[in-house]
Amino acid sequence: MVSRVIPVDPFDLVIFGGTGDLARRKILPGLYRRYCAGQMPEEARIIGAARTEMDAAGYREMVAEAIEEFGGKDACDNLDAFLAKLDYVAIDARGETGWAELQDLMSGKDRIEVYYFSVAPGLFGDLAERLQQWGMAGEECRIVVEKPFGRDLESARALNATLATYFKEQQIYRIDHYLGKETVQNLMAVRFGNMLFEPLWNRQYVDHIQITVAETVGVGGRGEYYDKSGAMRDMVQNHLMQLLCLIAMEPPARFDPDAVRDEKLKVIRAIDPVLPHHLVRGQYEAEEGNEEDAPSYRDAVGNPRSRTESFVALKAHISNWRWHGTPFYLRTGKRMVARSSEITVVFKDTPHSIFAEDAGRHRNVLSIRLQPNEGITLGVTIKEPGPGGMRLVDVPLDMTFAEALGPDGGDQVDAYERLIMDVIRGNQTLFMRDDEVEAAWAWTDPIIQGWEARHDVPKPYDSGSAGPTDATEMMRRDGREWRKVSP
Ligand code: NAP
Repeated sequence: MVSRVIPVDPFDLVIFGGTGDLARRKILPGLYRRYCAGQMPEEARIIGAARTEMDAAGYREMVAEAIEEFGGKDACDNLDAFLAKLDYVAIDARGETGWAELQDLMSGKDRIEVYYFSVAPGLFGDLAERLQQWGMAGEECRIVVEKPFGRDLESARALNATLATYFKEQQIYRIDHYLGKETVQNLMAVRFGNMLFEPLWNRQYVDHIQITVAETVGVGGRGEYYDKSGAMRDMVQNHLMQLLCLIAMEPPARFDPDAVRDEKLKVIRAIDPVLPHHLVRGQYEAEEGNEEDAPSYRDAVGNPRSRTESFVALKAHISNWRWHGTPFYLRTGKRMVARSSEITVVFKDTPHSIFAEDAGRHRNVLSIRLQPNEGITLGVTIKEPGPGGMRLVDVPLDMTFAEALGPDGGDQVDAYERLIMDVIRGNQTLFMRDDEVEAAWAWTDPIIQGWEARHDVPKPYDSGSAGPTDATEMMRRDGREWRKVSP
């Protein structure tokens, strides 16, 4: 199936931090792929902005290298035409350098203006203020901000208040790239586009739901940042929370940004505080025999006494009519056995089995894979083939998107590409609203404060495992088990 590409209107996209890691790895290669797909109009301009002195030719060279290194080079054979759209301004978010030049570049153009803040959050306020000072913060422009959106409720509120001084909420696009994944959007299509699932999507038929985001990588070069953050702030408060919202929310009246975000917000506000014995934190150990390349968490962050978690597992309850009593198990960690993000809905047993006892217990399991191999699998119980009597077996109804929809419909479009095009189209559905971010912190803060107050020390776990045994135990106490973390 060939996906339909609808070109966006002419735009100017200024990437503050246009020389940084995120711009080189994700934003610029993604834009090139969109250009190749025919989604970018000829008049579009992309302006890199950072302190490093260089001219447009130097920037184009840097971008060409980034596209070569980080993918996209083969998207089409038109790199020079794409590079011709690029410009560069040496600018200082905290000083006066470069602002007059940027103003000059942006003035007199009747087109969509997007300012992408791909810089440290400490610079967001400076950029917003400068844009206003220099007359570039008009009511029609849009700004894109990157996570982290604060490190607790207080700092998130302060950040939101700063941005709100200069821009309306409808102009602010807070990126959580998880929401740009094909399967995440498909979650809404599956839930609200089919009659089949929604009647079963509640406490009466669902035994429990699991959300796992497992990574094989360690903290890498982000050690210093990560040690001040940890898995709860870095993954649970944003990515896992967003997935939880989409799986648990009520059907919005319309598929429009505020209708969807209102429903997500209601979920976050209905999550109960998490009890200490429903929480497991972990910290990975060095890989045996490979301590140099795969050091322990504490060695990787250079802090032998670190109490920051690289793994979290928790059990959450949502206090509303739909989900009362249905547990949601969330788990995320680094240096785990496989890279895998998956949501699993485990349905209850049939009320009565007509089959002999040795037919075994069979449950329908709907698993939604976000990565790798985005797709959906529904486990269905059937008769084991053959003449051996009535024995039951579970078989998967598998829909791997890349296979079902062909290469254009699979995971070819990176989440960043999709989200940037949404910004240009002015569609905020897949971006987090200020109140959503704050509600997520309001739920997360007491958990982190509790750990700090108890001087909680994370449990060690082996690199290449599924996390600490305490996480397995937490499930076992409930008579359940985690899904195997497999690629
Ligand atoms: P980075 O590699 O450190 O890049 C920072 C960029 O900001 C550079 O282009 C830098 O260029 C520019 N910059 C720094 N100070 C500046 C100033 N005073 N005025 C103007 N430009 C300035 O950081 P990054 O990894 O790209 O991350 C950017 C943002 O995205 C951060 O908020 C980060 O948390 C977030 N993020 C990154 C990733 C990722 O995968 N990298 C993922 C999720 C979120 P000069 O030094 O030349 O000024």
